[in-house]
Amino acid sequence: MGLHARSLEIFAALEVLAPIRKASRTMRAVSVYGDKGFLFELDLTSLDAPYPWVLSCPQSDVEKALTERYRSLGGELIRGTELLDFTQDGAGVRARIRQGADVETVTCDLLVGADGASSTVRQQLGIGFNGVDYDEHFLLADVDWQGPWRSDSSHGFLQEDGLLIALPLPTGWRLIMARDEAWEGELSLQPFTDRLTPILGETPDLGEPRWISRFSVQRRLAHHYRRNRVFLAGDAAHVQSPLGAQGMNTGLADAFNLSWKLAFYLKGYGNGALLDSYEQERKPVADKMLHGVDMLSRASLVKLPMLRRTRDSLLKMAGGRPGLTRRLLRTASQLDVHYRQSPLVGCGPEAELGWRHRGPLPGDRLPDAALGSVRTGHLHQLHDLLRKPVHHLLLQLGESPGHKERLVLYALSDRLGQEYRERVHLTVVVARDTPVGEIPREGTIRIWRDHQGEFAAAFGEGPRMWLMRPDGHLAYRAPVSNANHLLEYLDTVLGRKGQ
Ligand SMILES: Cc1cc2nc3c(=O)[nH]c(=O)nc-3n(C[C@H](O)[C@H](O)[C@H](O)COP(=O)(O)OP(=O)(O)OC[C@H]3O[C@@H](n4cnc5c(N)ncnc54)[C@H](O)[C@@H]3O)c2cc1C
Repeated sequence: MGLHARSLEIFAALEVLAPIRKASRTMRAVSVYGDKGFLFELDLTSLDAPYPWVLSCPQSDVEKALTERYRSLGGELIRGTELLDFTQDGAGVRARIRQGADVETVTCDLLVGADGASSTVRQQLGIGFNGVDYDEHFLLADVDWQGPWRSDSSHGFLQEDGLLIALPLPTGWRLIMARDEAWEGELSLQPFTDRLTPILGETPDLGEPRWISRFSVQRRLAHHYRRNRVFLAGDAAHVQSPLGAQGMNTGLADAFNLSWKLAFYLKGYGNGALLDSYEQERKPVADKMLHGVDMLSRASLVKLPMLRRTRDSLLKMAGGRPGLTRRLLRTASQLDVHYRQSPLVGCGPEAELGWRHRGPLPGDRLPDAALGSVRTGHLHQLHDLLRKPVHHLLLQLGESPGHKERLVLYALSDRLGQEYRERVHLTVVVARDTPVGEIPREGTIRIWRDHQGEFAAAFGEGPRMWLMRPDGHLAYRAPVSNANHLLEYLDTVLGRKGQ
């Protein structure tokens, strides 16, 4: 249910944010209570991001919005089918699919196993999925009860009686509790009523559950995300405790990372490095996330009184340090996920120019900034301007662009237009007072002005070149004088296979 800031950017890029927001409740805070009452409140709105909150949206509504968008783009989605098994070789994948009583063999170039924690695809590939099971057993119920708490905040009770979490739904609450014994027999709301009574000082009338279920928690990571033509994404590749609300968010980002690479591959662009980079980029992200979520979960479930007291003191202290909570929040939001170690990202020989550490590094998520139209001054957000799912080359000119910068612009526009027309779009960014009269504006060149200095604050001063990938991460950065390096990079990563 919990959708973090980076996922909201992904939804905006996929043009599904509006229906998802409509089906959501906005969460602006997390309140945490220990044995002695209130510990701290985490302000979820302090992120420097276009969508600085967490949305609470049932996963069925997220899937509905994605399905409708996919179909509106001409995609076909067939439900009620089961992958039985598959084989692969140099020519492709042959998969046996069952629909009702019919079994059909489908041949395809590539296969993505997004088939959850018990993934048939992962098992048939023989890919290990090591990890641990948690000892605790969880009970979950969605209720229409209104509750006494502020409804734009989730509430976590880390107390002697066990963990209780209350998450606001678009209407009502989702309640989750944990205990050591399994939840046997018919499930009811009574354990929640019993647990809430001492917290509220009265017996709540929770009504009838809309949904009630039990679940257990594991932490596992697939040893590999790919074998030849077959890939794993989402829970098929990683499972974790739901505390911290990271699972679906991470799966979405897996898919966003993989999908443009698959599309390029199928269109005949790029080389093997493109598909190899999926595991190289996404597995370390899941590994780090699993460790963070494991720490959070174990701290929340700790039972020894002395450890609980220590934890509560630490949490109280952390809650009083806005710098620390902002860092934790940024990690949870997944805005800081980067692919700096990926062999697929790079930079020109920039170290000698002295700006190695200014602006985003190759692999980082591109920051957002307001840019104005050179004609009307009307402001737009950079992320919105770069919405099209292609690579975007941002040419950031200096205060007073000289002859050389204009030549580079001409040369790049010419070459990109000839060889990368559908794959790389060129956008020019000029400083607030840069005269634009002599800057060429032919073809598809778009010029935007850094009216408020937000671009320079996030990226540093020009002149520089920034190449953004379709998933919003920086593929390459270089000084403008290194246009040749950039073109070499494009040839290697995006050139036609076999060139
Ligand atoms: C209580 C709880 C709360 C959670 N809250 C959050 C949260 O707030 N935020 C968050 O980010 N994550 C949360 N998660 C985790 C999140 O639910 C999962 O990470 C997410 O659902 C994984 O999505 P998926 O598509 O990878 O896998 P799944 O949701 O498991 O979907 C896999 C699909 O594949 C299908 N399938 C399986 N085998 C086959 C086959 N052989 N052939 C055809 N189809 C097959 C299944 O039927 C299913 O539809 C929570 C989890 C739990 C248990």
